[in-house]
Amino acid sequence: MDDCIFCKIIAGQIPSARVHEDDTAIVFLDIDQANKGHLLIIPRYHAADFHDLDGDTAAHLGRLAWEWAGAAMNAVGSDGYNLLLSNRKEAGQEVFHTHLHIIPRWAGDGYLKGPGSSRIADMAERQATAALIKDAK
Ligand code: AMP
Ligand code: ZN
Repeated sequence: MDDCIFCKIIAGQIPSARVHEDDTAIVFLDIDQANKGHLLIIPRYHAADFHDLDGDTAAHLGRLAWEWAGAAMNAVGSDGYNLLLSNRKEAGQEVFHTHLHIIPRWAGDGYLKGPGSSRIADMAERQATAALIKDAK
């Protein structure tokens, strides 16, 4: 889809710090790090709604969360993590290409999705964190 930022990331028109890519999906660092190690998992084809994905692709996103959540947590030394998938603007979705967040969590980190709860990380920082997570897998 022409005006979709995640389709542009898939196509390589916008840079991303990837920890994994395959024929179905990619896993990369969120630009706005809610906490260090915050990852996004997105399907290669455009679908705004999670429930509009074919079942195999939807299941693969879950599989990738299962594969990468532990690596993200170990790489940054977090106490836990959240998986988050917001569907439609009323639920807080901002990029309308379905995506699954992995958000490392620390006790008392005050994480709350919303303005001011995260921090833009430049590409060098995201690449460094991506390398840490890949090493932790
Ligand atoms: P949501 O609010 O669930 O729709 O999440 C969209 C996410 O996409 C936000 O956490 C943004 O920080 C993230 N995002 C937007 N543009 C980029 C980008 N160029 N690279 C990485 N993450 C992005
Ligand atoms: Zn898209």
